[in-house]
Amino acid sequence: MSDDNPIKLYPGQQVDVAWDGRLCIHVGECGRSAGSLFESGRQPWCQPDVTTLDDVVDVVQRCPTGALTYQRKDGGPAEQAPARNTIVVSNNGPLYATGELAIEGAAPDMSGVAMRAALCRCGQSKNKPFCDGAHKAAGFTAE
Ligand code: SF4
Repeated sequence: MSDDNPIKLYPGQQVDVAWDGRLCIHVGECGRSAGSLFESGRQPWCQPDVTTLDDVVDVVQRCPTGALTYQRKDGGPAEQAPARNTIVVSNNGPLYATGELAIEGAAPDMSGVAMRAALCRCGQSKNKPFCDGAHKAAGFTAE
């Protein structure tokens, strides 16, 4: 993995976590998680071994953009898409999609967006169809 690889891997004993810099819009759901699985400024930022496997799975699945994914090493089940697809319209921000997603324009190695994705709503993203946070600088407000 070269340094310019947008996907950073955080290996653990029971589970590996991956973070895709092309998708993260720094909404910070990971940082708000209990415990120290993710700690801003720490190296490495994500340490899967400081908490339980269940906690890692729970926190990663709350990442609304698909930037975070996990790979279990215990033979346990991989992430399953929710039975029902949903779109949540965020306040002056992106559309958050969950479910079994097939997003045109997603790179083949963006595995997280097969189940969770933040889609541009303001029209200003340079990473369409995904949100890149441009709505904030653009002062986007929904009517
Ligand atoms: S929860 Fe996901 S999108 Fe939000 S800051 Fe963490 S990695 Fe980025």
